[in-house]
Amino acid sequence: MTEDILCAFKKAGIDITDKQALQFDAMIGFLQDYCTRVNLTAIRDRQGIIEKHLVDSVLPVTLADVGEKSRCMDIGTGAGFPAVPWLIYREDLRFTLLDAQRKRTDYLTLLMKELGIKAEIIHGRAEELGRKAGYREGYDIVTARAVSDIPTLLKYSAPFLKKGGRLLAMRGSRDELTADVEKAAEKLGLTLSGVKEYCLPGGDGRRLAVFIKVELRSAFL
Ligand code: SAM
Repeated sequence: MTEDILCAFKKAGIDITDKQALQFDAMIGFLQDYCTRVNLTAIRDRQGIIEKHLVDSVLPVTLADVGEKSRCMDIGTGAGFPAVPWLIYREDLRFTLLDAQRKRTDYLTLLMKELGIKAEIIHGRAEELGRKAGYREGYDIVTARAVSDIPTLLKYSAPFLKKGGRLLAMRGSRDELTADVEKAAEKLGLTLSGVKEYCLPGGDGRRLAVFIKVELRSAFL
C-alpha cells in the first residue's frame, strides 16, 4: 500500500514513480522494525515518517538545482536523512553518509543492503574526515539536516566542498541567520547565496540555507 506515500509527495508538488514509492515503503517498514530494538528517531508513526522524514528530505533537492551525478556528503545523516530519500529520488547522485554514532552507521549499512542502493557509509566525525585526502575539497554538495548550530556546521562543511560547491543546510523555520553567520561563512571561504522558505504539506515551516564555496581556504582549515 503506497497510496499514502504518493499522495503526500503529490501534496508537496513532487511526482514520484511507483518504484520510488515502493522503495520509500520498504524504508519505512525497515525503520519502524529497527526502532523496536534501537532508538534512531522519535518520529515512528507511518504518517509522521512520510511527511517529516521522507517529504521533508526530498523537498530541498527539488528546490536547489542539484547537478547530475553530483558527489554529495551528508553530514550527521542519523537514520539517513536527507541522503537516503535523495538517493531514492535521484539515482544518479553519489553519496557519502557520515555520522558520529556507530548505531546509526550500522543501521544504514543494513538499510542500504535491504534497499539495494549503493553509498559510502562512514562512522566518524566531520571535523576529522574533512582533513583527509579523498574527502577534503572533494564534494559538489554537502547536505545537513538539523545538525549543530550554523557556525559549527559551516566549519564542518567547508573543508569538504570543492570551489563552487554548495552547502544545503536544512533548518527549522526559526533558525537565525544573522550577520554573524555571514561573517563566519566568509572566514571559511563561503558565502550565503540564499535562503528558501517553504512549508511541509502539514504546515510546518522550513528553511533551506544555501552557502557557496567561493574560495579555497585550505591553509586555515
Ligand atoms: N540528519 C538526521 C536527521 O535530520 O534526521 C539526523 C539529525 S540528528 C539531530 C544529528 C546527527 O548528527 C546525529 O546522528 C549525530 O550523531 C550527528 N553528528 C553530530 N555531530 C557530528 C559530527 N561532528 N560529525 C558527524 N556526525 C555528527
